[in-house]
Amino acid sequence: MSKPIASVARTREILNAYGLHAKKTYGQNFLIDVSVVARAAEASHCEGAVIEIGPGIGSLTEQLALRSKHVRSYEVDERLLPVLEQELSQYDNIEIILQDFLECDLEQSVNELAAKYGSVNVCANLPYYVTTPILFKLFEGPQQVEYITVMVQKEVGDRFSAKPGTPDYSALSVESQVLYEVKRLFTVPRTAFSPSPNVDSAIIQFHRRADRKLESGFFELVRASFQQRRKTLYNNLKEYVGDAERAARILEQAGLEPGVRAQALDVAAFENLYQAVKENEQ
Ligand code: SAM
Repeated sequence: MSKPIASVARTREILNAYGLHAKKTYGQNFLIDVSVVARAAEASHCEGAVIEIGPGIGSLTEQLALRSKHVRSYEVDERLLPVLEQELSQYDNIEIILQDFLECDLEQSVNELAAKYGSVNVCANLPYYVTTPILFKLFEGPQQVEYITVMVQKEVGDRFSAKPGTPDYSALSVESQVLYEVKRLFTVPRTAFSPSPNVDSAIIQFHRRADRKLESGFFELVRASFQQRRKTLYNNLKEYVGDAERAARILEQAGLEPGVRAQALDVAAFENLYQAVKENEQ
């Protein structure tokens, strides 16, 4: 039985054998700590099917395969395909798709996996240069995906779970907290990667709230409210609705003071605000 891919020795062996170097443009940092990948996989609810984004040389993929009925992994770097095929050949439940995840038909993919395997969740060590677009694709994707467990930069992770009134609280925090319960499962030091990035990381888990539906108007309003952080909500809203009087009426109806700033509003307050905007539409 060979060592896990995530072990330092095996990672080194693989990189040497295939003459691979990490490509910065693809955000490649390979995990070299077996306990980190095992813990992430264990927490990810991957027992049905699991979608992975960016398998790299397969360290997390392997741990998912040990716990899941089916692993579907999207990788954009074609150099990695032969490596993954060879190094993961002992597992018959792994499917590698050579494609930019941002271009895949997520809805079709999830529907197909759900029909075959019951549950479909997501687990990935994300390429940091595309963290936000990938997460928004997942947030706006099919509701069947109940758990998204991802490694992100620690600072980005703080933003997702930030509370109102703190400097990290942003449109991103509101959007993710509306749709998900967000938990930081654990932090991962930069030394757990090869090459080692300049920042520490964290494993964040998003658990979809059953009662929430995504309404694009709501998210537009949230983004507009934070448009200029230093401005009051009233000023941002005035620009968004294009009418000062209407903006004032909306705030009053939502029970908000004109001097309040977006970063002070919790999710429930944004929902009230959205209702008031809808009721005052022309
Ligand atoms: N999962 C591996 C690990 O933990 O060691 C590698 C993680 S590395 C941070 C990110 C991986 O995502 C790389 O393999 C990279 O090639 C891949 N990647 C980058 N952009 C991608 C995209 N748009 N779609 C799919 N994979 C992508």
